[in-house]
Amino acid sequence: MATEKIQPPEVIFTQIFINNEFVNSVSGKTFPTINPVTGDKICDVQEGDKADVDVAVKAARAAFKLGSPWRSLDASARGSLLYKLSELFLRDAEYMAKLETLDNGKPYKSSFSSVNGAAKVLRYYAGFADKIHGKTIPVDGPFFCYTRHEPVGVCGQIIPWNYPISLLTWKIGPALACGCTCVVKPAEQTPLTALYVAKLIKEAGFPPGVVNIIPGYGPTAGAAISEHMDIDKIAFTGSTEVGRLIQEASGKSNLKRVSLELGGKSPLIVLTDADIDFAVDIGHDGLFANMGQICCAASRIFVHEDIYDDYVKKSVARAKRRTIGDPYDPKTESGPQISQEQFDKIMELIDSGKKDGAKLECGGGRFGDKGYFVQSTVFSDVTDEMRIAKEEIFGPVQQILKFKTIEEAVERANRTTYGLSAGVITKDIDKALSIANKIEAGTVWVNTFTVIPCQGAFGGFKMSGQGRELGEYGLQEYTEIKTVTVKVDGNL
Ligand code: ADP
Repeated sequence: MATEKIQPPEVIFTQIFINNEFVNSVSGKTFPTINPVTGDKICDVQEGDKADVDVAVKAARAAFKLGSPWRSLDASARGSLLYKLSELFLRDAEYMAKLETLDNGKPYKSSFSSVNGAAKVLRYYAGFADKIHGKTIPVDGPFFCYTRHEPVGVCGQIIPWNYPISLLTWKIGPALACGCTCVVKPAEQTPLTALYVAKLIKEAGFPPGVVNIIPGYGPTAGAAISEHMDIDKIAFTGSTEVGRLIQEASGKSNLKRVSLELGGKSPLIVLTDADIDFAVDIGHDGLFANMGQICCAASRIFVHEDIYDDYVKKSVARAKRRTIGDPYDPKTESGPQISQEQFDKIMELIDSGKKDGAKLECGGGRFGDKGYFVQSTVFSDVTDEMRIAKEEIFGPVQQILKFKTIEEAVERANRTTYGLSAGVITKDIDKALSIANKIEAGTVWVNTFTVIPCQGAFGGFKMSGQGRELGEYGLQEYTEIKTVTVKVDGNL
């Protein structure tokens, strides 16, 4: 990759995408999208609301009708379209990465790897399109019985701002492989890359109405999707509070299927035999990557008392070396937080940590004098009942806790309403596997962290969500299973 500074791109698409056309909102309203580096407006985007969602759902429903161009395609042809889309992602990766960095503030290097990862997700699901099939089942009686895995229908898909391109493909990839149609709402903070993807969807050759993209706010456009009577399934990634609203809206409307990927407070347990420098790097990257704005961030690091002081000292040194600044500068490791709201929330939790008696080892304040940058912050002497040990901070704030026995560490790691992910660092395979078995989380990493291959499965136990994304498991969320039973007389 080039070492010179990259220039921000020109924004091309700012309208709502329905039926393969870019259109203005029914209300005529727009909303600003903000550059988190400066706090200034990048541009205005058409603001979708209930009326736009209604139009998009009609388009998605028409595209889903039996006999429509989309439903008439062979499954392998659906796969070819997805494959084409992944190729277009690779063709335009540099532009898309620049746009992601402009809207989200993450370092260009991370945006570039996000786009490549997203292309991989699409390619993975392209291969699955003609491999989604049922079983023949030897049922009792004179019957021939088989199952069909049919597309669930029109899918509402609500995306957060922390990984806009990646999480868009985690949702449209499996939905399209299964033959569903989509009404997507990107986060209001980061609508721009999704609208560029809209252009690529049309270029790839997907029929009109198969994917519709409605930028807009959560309580308006998002709520209209979750309450809609003609949406069959909703997939949501975001906060646990909003996940609860989505589930309620499903119950109050048409009981649409719901999959949720929500918050976390993920433990990383470091045993005494761990190589300390290695464990410090894993803990650092596990928390500070993406400015701490990762639902599976290693936000509670449990370190054995024998190595605790050394671990804290080295973690602080590493955090102090972290480069913060212009996300287009290749040397930058961390950009700004996404918004003033998130910045304020992080500062409030840092204050609570200080008041609750945790030791602020470094950071704790604003970085620079504009935008939403936060200093890399490390707290030691954190105890379980402190808010910083219980609540999701979603910022560059590391909590290091001390433990005496492994049983105690596992019990405390599980003492949370969340269950998204966890990690353990040790050279002892027996201990690693025993801990992995006992942890209540959808993902456990051993001697690594935040590794999320598209072939695996990702999702939460407990209040971290329901259902799984990625991998073959991710497809199950987008099909209905139909059992067909045929009486067979057996007379020849
Ligand atoms: P965060 O707190 O990290 O911003 P949110 O859960 O608020 O995360 O947002 C994630 C996504 O959910 C965004 O696209 C947002 O617009 C959407 N959203 C927010 N509130 C609602 C709501 N009441 N109904 C549906 N979607 C919502």
